[in-house]
Amino acid sequence: MKPAICGVCGRFQIAGDWVEFQDYDESQLTSLTHPAGLEFFCNEHLGEALKLASQDASSALNALKMTYLSDSSV
Ligand SMILES: [Zn+2]
Repeated sequence: MKPAICGVCGRFQIAGDWVEFQDYDESQLTSLTHPAGLEFFCNEHLGEALKLASQDASSALNALKMTYLSDSSV
């Protein structure tokens, strides 16, 4: 598993949750590798991430980063 680092802001977060995206496949779960389609988001970005959960993870991450990181306020 990846550490709990927000997929949008890239910060380590304690407050947040994992989101299962469209390409998440539970059958891929092992203790050794991070499953595709499963990403962590902090509370600040979790709501928007959940709205995109019907997309695959890479598309959703790109869209979220476009939304939040298009300003230079990173
Ligand atoms: Zn975040």
